[in-house]
Amino acid sequence: DKQNQGWNLENTYQQLPKLFYTNVKPAKADAPVLAVYNEKLAAELGLDSSALKHEAEIFAGNKLPDGSDSIAQAYAGHQFGSFTMLGDGRAVLFGEQVTPKGERYDIQLKGSGRTPYSRGGDGRAALGPMLREYLISEAMHGLGIPTSRSLAVATTGETVFREAPLPGAVLTRVAESHIRVGTFQYARQWGNKKDLQALADYSMKRHYPEIAEDENRYLTFLYKVADKQAELIADWQLKGFIHGVMNTDNVAISGETIDYGPCAFMDQYDRETVFSSIDQQGRYAYGNQPGIGAWNMARFAESLLVLMDEEEEQAIPKAKEAVETYVQSVESYWLDGMRKKLGIIGQSDDDKTLIRSLLDLMEKYHADFTNTFRALTLQQLDNDSIIFQSTAFKEWHQAWQDKLESQTASLEEASQLMKRHNPSIIPRNYLVEEVLAAAVTEGDYEPFHALLTALEDPYAYTEEQEKYAVDPPEQDFQTFCGT
Ligand code: AMP
Ligand code: MG
Ligand code: MG
Repeated sequence: DKQNQGWNLENTYQQLPKLFYTNVKPAKADAPVLAVYNEKLAAELGLDSSALKHEAEIFAGNKLPDGSDSIAQAYAGHQFGSFTMLGDGRAVLFGEQVTPKGERYDIQLKGSGRTPYSRGGDGRAALGPMLREYLISEAMHGLGIPTSRSLAVATTGETVFREAPLPGAVLTRVAESHIRVGTFQYARQWGNKKDLQALADYSMKRHYPEIAEDENRYLTFLYKVADKQAELIADWQLKGFIHGVMNTDNVAISGETIDYGPCAFMDQYDRETVFSSIDQQGRYAYGNQPGIGAWNMARFAESLLVLMDEEEEQAIPKAKEAVETYVQSVESYWLDGMRKKLGIIGQSDDDKTLIRSLLDLMEKYHADFTNTFRALTLQQLDNDSIIFQSTAFKEWHQAWQDKLESQTASLEEASQLMKRHNPSIIPRNYLVEEVLAAAVTEGDYEPFHALLTALEDPYAYTEEQEKYAVDPPEQDFQTFCGT
């Protein structure tokens, strides 16, 4: 529809009790300019880019799209283990876009001003971090990892004050929903049983419609969410993604990666890798992510207990079992994925030992995670990485080759499998910093777009990708939250 730019918004979240949201309009920006716009995503959403790609007013929050009844959502969460009230403190939901295929996606502005949930915050966002979220979320999508997407970044013409004055911006993000574990914790803490049930039934209908009529549907719901979480976190591990702030308010019920703050991709393989400046204890270190997922699922299970059974005591062992199943699932999704990264087709008992001993060598020799698998995929082991020169690696390599040769599948099939599961490139921290600096300080968006385009198909193994695949410089990289 040309007249309304293709907007087909519904506002079904407002069918929930009023407790779950507040009607909020985004703040108006002084001088909105559209900095980045995702034409491919717009097309998938059924939006008409001929008009929309000039619509800075909408993406800065100055104008509401047709059919929008905007809200800020209420939620709570455990932040680094402590429970607290939160909510959209700098985000506003336009509504849910129903696509030509009939899918439903939240369209949300981030950095669009204060809301009743802002606490001490200014409700704003700076350009650098919004471009960073855009780039990394789109890269995650390219890698095939479930994630919120990014539709646009608009600059506001206003200054945001952090440690220094920074240019302000608003990000438009798109997700299957923004319902979180923290939304359930909020309902459990501040709502009654009816409120909680309304949220659970709404979430099931939206994300797991196949179980909405089940007899034990709340327990099944817990299993479904936990399974999606297991698959997601295993995927992060397999690609070296560190979320950085796995608080329960950042765990989406849909199983998508949400809330890109201090996240980053690991370079050298080290289970203790942490990038976030605020994560002093390493709670959300790379190697801890699967376990934190279990902790978060336990919090989700607690929130659902009153619904699961009239007798809460009987529900507890069932809920515990669901969380234990998560622990097994995250391990088996991971193991399955590691087999694929090594071209192993089928399963045998010694796979895990083979995988583990490679990872141990990588840790010992500080080998680059992505590039080690890339080199194995390309069979380019003649470079001067110390891991490849070591006797221990040579022995491992022989055992791995023997395994591949003993498979019924051909070596060519194994190689193709590896190419589909080992990215040739990832959004390396130093690359991301470079392209953001050019965009933010010089207004030069070309490096940003070049990297973004390369990351659309990280498994392409093309020559153009080579320049993004070189080993990164040694650096002490840190990321920051809430900027
Ligand atoms: P996060 O660390 O991104 O998960 O955010 C935690 C909470 O802080 C959420 O409730 C956010 O909405 C809120 N928040 C983060 N930054 C700001 C800000 N600049 N102004 C208001 N609220 C914020
Ligand atoms: Mg959050
Ligand atoms: Mg955040």
